[in-house]
Amino acid sequence: MTYRFQFRPYQRKFLRSLTTNHGKWDIREGIILRLTDESGKVGWGEIAPISWFGSETLEQALYFCRQLPEEITDEIIFSIPDELPACQFGFESAWEWGSGKWGNEFFSMPNAQCPMPHAQSFSALLPAGEAALNQWETLWQQGYRTFKWKIGVDAIADELEIFDLLIHTLPAFTKLRLDANGGLTYEEANLWLWTCDNLKANAELPIEIEFIEQPLPVEQFQQMLELSTTYETAIALDESVATLGQLAACYQLGWRGIFVIKPGIVGSPSRLRKFCHQYQIDTVFSSVFETAIGKQAALQLTAELSQNNRAIGFGIDHFFEQEETWFQSLWNDL
Ligand code: MG
Repeated sequence: MTYRFQFRPYQRKFLRSLTTNHGKWDIREGIILRLTDESGKVGWGEIAPISWFGSETLEQALYFCRQLPEEITDEIIFSIPDELPACQFGFESAWEWGSGKWGNEFFSMPNAQCPMPHAQSFSALLPAGEAALNQWETLWQQGYRTFKWKIGVDAIADELEIFDLLIHTLPAFTKLRLDANGGLTYEEANLWLWTCDNLKANAELPIEIEFIEQPLPVEQFQQMLELSTTYETAIALDESVATLGQLAACYQLGWRGIFVIKPGIVGSPSRLRKFCHQYQIDTVFSSVFETAIGKQAALQLTAELSQNNRAIGFGIDHFFEQEETWFQSLWNDL
């Protein structure tokens, strides 16, 4: 089979800049691609790299798209090199979209709203710092019951103070995830885990600290492995398992904690399926701030592969304008 291949770069501004230990992020840039098969069937895909997280850069993805011919084959789509994981995801998911294997609920145009799971199955991202104290309530009213808060952004003493306020204001049965983005020292990681273990042991807290995400930098895998056996509080790897190759390596090295999977940058969906089916790992699926196009493909994979009822990290719509039809205009000049 051959496909007509077209692509358009896009830029999308965050309503509020996103603050993590990696710095501030103001504009999401990516590529929307379209494959049209010989019978005229269309499949949409999205390449949404995050190079500081471990994927290729936008420039590398653009270069790859520009050097491709206008007509491409299955062989090209399924042999994209591992150095371009966001491209692997974008092309394969466009191929799947066009193949119709996701069923009738997916339409040929990307403005179709995909069937969304209820907010309760999503984890909502709180803003970093004190702002979290003012925002959880709105999100709670929208139905979210799991929240993620970024740590490792400010001084640990300040964060522990805000954390104490936060856990005593959140309603009972809320789940809270703490994401350090690799920004803690070994001592700080111990302090956070010890604090969370103590809260649990005292049993006075009506909320649950679900896990601490990526406490230490990627290079400190052995320390994280050790921490995961020292404390009760679970640890999830995220930056350490950004791509399928890293995920397999951490599994081989003995990681049996939680794996955060970002379908948008992890690589080939077909190989991810194989890996998850073979090893039955404990996963949390999560967004890369993709548009509705990448999100449909990511949620499709999530629905297939998520098996432990953990909330999925796609509660990020409040970081963008609601209107999702802007990408239609990308194609007006065709
Ligand atoms: Mg994370």
